[in-house]
Amino acid sequence: MTVLGATKDPLADARTQLSRAVDVLGYSPGMFDMLATPRRELTVSVPLRRDDGSVELLVGHRVQHNLSRGPSKGGLRYSPDVTLDEVRALAMWMTWKCALVDVPYGGAKGGVRFDPRLYSRGELQRITRRYTSEIMPIIGPSQDIPAPDIGTDEQTMAWMMDTYSVNSGHTVLGVVTGKPVALGGSLGRASATSRGVVHVALAAMRHRGLQPVGATAAVQGFGKVGRGAARFLAEAGVRVVGVSDQYGAVHAPEGLDVPALEAHVDATGSVVDFGASEALPEGGDLLFLDVDLLVPAAVEGVIDETNAHRVGARVIVEGANGPTSPAADDILGANGQLVVPDILANAGGVIVSYFEWVQANQAYWWSEKEVEQRLEERMVRAWERVRDHAARHDIPLRLAATSMAVETVTTAHLARGLYP
Ligand code: GLU
Repeated sequence: MTVLGATKDPLADARTQLSRAVDVLGYSPGMFDMLATPRRELTVSVPLRRDDGSVELLVGHRVQHNLSRGPSKGGLRYSPDVTLDEVRALAMWMTWKCALVDVPYGGAKGGVRFDPRLYSRGELQRITRRYTSEIMPIIGPSQDIPAPDIGTDEQTMAWMMDTYSVNSGHTVLGVVTGKPVALGGSLGRASATSRGVVHVALAAMRHRGLQPVGATAAVQGFGKVGRGAARFLAEAGVRVVGVSDQYGAVHAPEGLDVPALEAHVDATGSVVDFGASEALPEGGDLLFLDVDLLVPAAVEGVIDETNAHRVGARVIVEGANGPTSPAADDILGANGQLVVPDILANAGGVIVSYFEWVQANQAYWWSEKEVEQRLEERMVRAWERVRDHAARHDIPLRLAATSMAVETVTTAHLARGLYP
């Protein structure tokens, strides 16, 4: 999908968000540098023998942004857009996310630069196993725990877990999360991010005086986060009037039949040409629908200063990481539009990753109901804390969430002291 006029610089966005939080907290420039800079970065070559016998060299990264509160945690992305700076930004956002929802991790992220749609299953397996063995020295259940992100899934995690385990000489369930349930995954992990987004979206709409039943919503992205978000919004009575994916966008003012749309996507691989809807001229136009709720659930940098003034939604709940630039935040805030930040809104994934890690380390499994209840409790509690903090200090939700998280990380850092 085309990103209208955006010059994406997720690391600049992440650093600006951090610097705004550091200003509010009154920290020194030295503390900003400590918080802005990853503790460890590893760049690896991933040589791949393709199915036709040729050899191709891919590049992968793993960035551990912060280790003050525990092992680092964060997804692994397969995308042609992966860069070291993008992975650094995503790792930083993981640090704040984990601190904000009080899971005992620092932030990390990994990425391999290639388009997984152009590779066979065998090739994907070889890429995953080689990348895992290259980053093996810095990952582990008490070091750094990968999980799925864009372009990766539970099969990727199964291969990672197996590669790590074979090289360790025994099964290590806790080295990754987002695994298949048959292999030590948690019930409720696959839907966790989407459920969390919807818990927060419903609370945010009510906070803005919008009754969710009958309210209108648009969801950008129909992958791991957006698809479930559309389903759970519809189940809550919200009228999902538009969705998009990388191929295009569909719109139905009276509301899309989400289960039928999911069946269409399963059959065709895209939302495009879904029967009871009309196509929007540009996929990106979905962002500008006049709706109560917009859930950007695709990639970073889609709402920036060139297009923020065209966003019509009353409430924007970030399912993706980093979809809104700081300049766009300012424009939306000035227009009275409420932005619920990624580190709060999409934290459901890492919350249930934490539950999965706890279960795997104890070899004791919870019921789906237990997982979902605990997820909802944590999401609602985090929303209320951020909402109250923002109101108390009269600041936007992102600044409230980031400064709360940064303070949590800094308190841990200071309590440990600087070594040596
Ligand atoms: N990739 C997801 C995120 O950005 C999940 C990370 C995890 O579960 O560790 O939050």
